[in-house]
Amino acid sequence: MLIAGNWKMHKGPGESAAFCTELRDELPDAEGVDIVVAPPFVSLHAAVAELEGSPIGVYAQNVHWEGEGAFTGEVSRWMLIAAGAAGAIVGHSERRQHFCETDETAAKRAHAALEAGLGVIACVGETLEEREAGATEAVLRRQVEAIAVAIPEPDKALRIAYEPVWAIGTGKTATPETAQGAHAFIRSLYPVAQILYGGSVKSENAEELLSQPDVDGALVGGASIDVDSFIAICQTAARLSRS
Ligand code: PEP
Repeated sequence: MLIAGNWKMHKGPGESAAFCTELRDELPDAEGVDIVVAPPFVSLHAAVAELEGSPIGVYAQNVHWEGEGAFTGEVSRWMLIAAGAAGAIVGHSERRQHFCETDETAAKRAHAALEAGLGVIACVGETLEEREAGATEAVLRRQVEAIAVAIPEPDKALRIAYEPVWAIGTGKTATPETAQGAHAFIRSLYPVAQILYGGSVKSENAEELLSQPDVDGALVGGASIDVDSFIAICQTAARLSRS
C-alpha cells in the first residue's frame, strides 16, 4: 500500500519544512504503508532535509526525459536525485490539461526516471466527456499502452495512479465499485505492481476506496495539504494493511 500526497502548487520551502516536521513527529506507526509527499520543486530540498532518516519519501511532481539541455522550466532526473528526491509523478491530468502533456511525453518521463533509479507514479484517467461518451476503457487503454510501449517490463518502482479527471479537486469521488472496475481493467492491460486511486480522496472515504482488491493505495491532492487529514488517511491505510 502506498499513500502519496500531491501538494500541487502549494507550500514553499518554509511551509514544506514545517509540514514535514509535523508529519515525521506525529505519524504513528504506519508499518505496511509506504508514504510519500510531492512538494513543488523549490521545496524538495527542505522536505528531504526534514524527512531524512524517516521512512517517508519525497517525490517531485514532474521530471524531464533529457539529462540536461535547453528545456527552460524543466527539471532533470539527475537534478531530482541531487536534491534527494526518491521519485516523481508523471502525466498528471493538470499537466495534460494545461501544459500539453501527452501520453508519449508522460511515458518518456516515466522511462527516464525509472532508468535513473527513481520511483514513478504515472497518472492516467478519463475526462467527464470521455466517461459520458462511453470511452473510459478506450482512453485508459491508450494511456496505459503508451506506458507499456516505453516500459515493457515494469518493476516495483513504477506505480500507475488511476485519476478520473472529473473527480480531481471536485469533491466528486469515484464510487469504490467504479474505482475497482477501472483498476482491474488497467491490471488486465499491464502487469504493474501497484495501482493507486486519486480523485477527492479524504479521510471520510479512504477506507471504502482502499478496501477494494485492486486499489493498492491513493494519490491524494487537496486532503494532503493539511497534515492532520493526510495523517488520518495514512492511518486508515496502515489499519487496512494490518488486517
Ligand atoms: C491529485 O491532484 O492528484 C488529486 C487526486 O487531487 P484531489 O485529491 O484534490 O482530487
